Amino acid sequence: MALSVVDLYAKILPKTNCKDCGYPTCIAFAGMVVSEKLPLKNCPHIAPDVLEKAQAELDEQYAQGKWLKKDMAAEALSLAKERTASLDLGAMAGRTGGILEDGKSPGPFSGTPHIRLPYFTGSLLVSKDRVADELGKDLSRNEQTFVYIHLASGGTSSPTGRMKSLKEFPNTVSKIVSMQDVVETPISQRFAGRLRALKTACETNGGTDVGNRYDSPDLAYQFRVFPKIYITLLFWDENEGFEPDAKLMFDETVMDHMDIEAVMFMSEHLAGLLTREAE
Ligand code: SF4
Repeated sequence: MALSVVDLYAKILPKTNCKDCGYPTCIAFAGMVVSEKLPLKNCPHIAPDVLEKAQAELDEQYAQGKWLKKDMAAEALSLAKERTASLDLGAMAGRTGGILEDGKSPGPFSGTPHIRLPYFTGSLLVSKDRVADELGKDLSRNEQTFVYIHLASGGTSSPTGRMKSLKEFPNTVSKIVSMQDVVETPISQRFAGRLRALKTACETNGGTDVGNRYDSPDLAYQFRVFPKIYITLLFWDENEGFEPDAKLMFDETVMDHMDIEAVMFMSEHLAGLLTREAE
């Protein structure tokens, strides 16, 4: 029997969120065990007989490549590329706010028609096979995946400026915990008591201060990820016994331009940009 993240969390882990494994929650640890082969024994609170049986089941599913992050990422990218394979580059550029370039100018995509697509503070170059930055450096697989999904999604709406949290979109309930564990909690923990560092990280990555639109957060920055896709980060610093908190908000049209998996990859990428900036 294979163990999914939810199985591991519900049936094996103590669910106390004690952090002894080095992760903020049991579910975050479960995700790392299932997708990254982190040893289950890193949680010191599992009975030896349960640990032995569960680790044997995990070893079996690792051998089959089941749920491993590496394989899932490769599969996601291949599916995303497939979705764009039969689509017209010019039409995709027009819908997403990019520019179609014929590849006649010198550069990393010389000889290959491609889209130049604004992205955070710069632009991406996207062909049917490859997504790279302006210097020709290929993006990570997860980044390429959400770029291709965005291009293939076919949305035509323009951002309205009305921002919503993930749970306000339909069919997102299964992703709420992941959004907290992989995106929002790492941001709030990294920047607790470091408001100025977060402000700098936001501005370095092209964020615009939109604090005047919100009453309660200590900081609010908006990012134009792509011409049609906007994310706002809200942050409440630790204060008189209250834990720090971070929340991502998305323009209400975001699901017209990508699916929930791509929203997760994109959000994780933003969290990585901000937290790396603070190292
Ligand atoms: S050490 Fe075990 S019980 Fe504690 S947070 Fe990690 S997984 Fe949960």
